[in-house]
Amino acid sequence: MPRPVRATLDLAALRHNLSRVRQYAPHSGVWAVVKANAYGHGLRHVWHALSGCDGFALIEPEAAVLLREEGWTGPVLLLEGFFDGADLALIDRYRLTTTVHSEYQLSMLEQATPDQPINVYLKINSGMNRLGFPPHHADPVYRRLRDMPAVGEITLMTHFANADNPHGIDAQFQVFRQATADIPGPRSLANSAATLWHPQSHFQWVRPGIILYGASPSGRAADIATTGLQPVMSLTSEIIAVQEMRPGDAIGYGSRYRAERPLRVGIVACGYGDGYPRHAPSGTPVWVAGERTGLLGAVSMDMLAIDLTALPGADIGTPVELWGKHLPVDEVAQAAGTLGYELLCALAPRVAVETV
Ligand SMILES: *Cc1c(COP(=O)(O)O)cnc(C)c1O
Repeated sequence: MPRPVRATLDLAALRHNLSRVRQYAPHSGVWAVVKANAYGHGLRHVWHALSGCDGFALIEPEAAVLLREEGWTGPVLLLEGFFDGADLALIDRYRLTTTVHSEYQLSMLEQATPDQPINVYLKINSGMNRLGFPPHHADPVYRRLRDMPAVGEITLMTHFANADNPHGIDAQFQVFRQATADIPGPRSLANSAATLWHPQSHFQWVRPGIILYGASPSGRAADIATTGLQPVMSLTSEIIAVQEMRPGDAIGYGSRYRAERPLRVGIVACGYGDGYPRHAPSGTPVWVAGERTGLLGAVSMDMLAIDLTALPGADIGTPVELWGKHLPVDEVAQAAGTLGYELLCALAPRVAVETV
């Protein structure tokens, strides 16, 4: 019998979320961001449900190759570009679009002799200070790229650090606009948060990631409650043991939780070895038998404990949802001091994935 923990992926929700993105950004092309193995969902499992997008954007060259081998013939964008000259052969062979964010990439492109011109995303650093050319280099870099025989279409790009705040893009937006005022061509600025909350940033291409998977760009479930986005992944398992605790009894490693009154405790087959956050404290919400209850004590590698005192109907074999349809991943993440992004990406390879 397989261990009961599994991730169920609702592919209809994925398609629905893409259609919500289309409604939010009706005049823009949509790059479906599928980096980090489609935010932990498994690129192989999900790409087809997202194939109504206009292109896939990701970080890992191997994942771009996988998409080609799976039969995707549309655009594929490497969000960090290429890492060394050898990647350029791969970009040429698989017809990938590449970000260009640094001088070393320009020099490599200058040396390149691809079979067909390579489309590039020229990344401007408008204030996040991770990747991109300084704003005052936008013009000269654009002209250099335009004059390279190896380069095809050029799209201007930047990335926002605070698009989940009401005025969070203003300063960067202004910097980008000024830096690119004299440069023609398409633009791509918006991540999920800007796709939802800053329509003035949509331009020709939006780049949503997390909202396709039905989680919140701000980390707060309430912020997407009225968007119609639906969770794609449900992480579920079952109760595999029940313990009756007396006052003073402790639960799990470090005896971190001690019963103050008689408690009925369910042991669930899911732990940090499955991707559940080890730092989730007692009280982190867990959904069981149609109700919410709370985590008790330390999460271990293969198990966690939940309070069943008020749920006499819950017993061995009762299904438990750690996050998903009934319990937003962002609520669990918030209790554990992180974001839904991190929990989704951290789904462990040993968890069986099933699509519905
Ligand atoms: C990850 C990423 C995105 C998508 O971010 P979300 O917050 O998940 O929408 C967009 N653009 C770039 C450059 C990224 O690295």
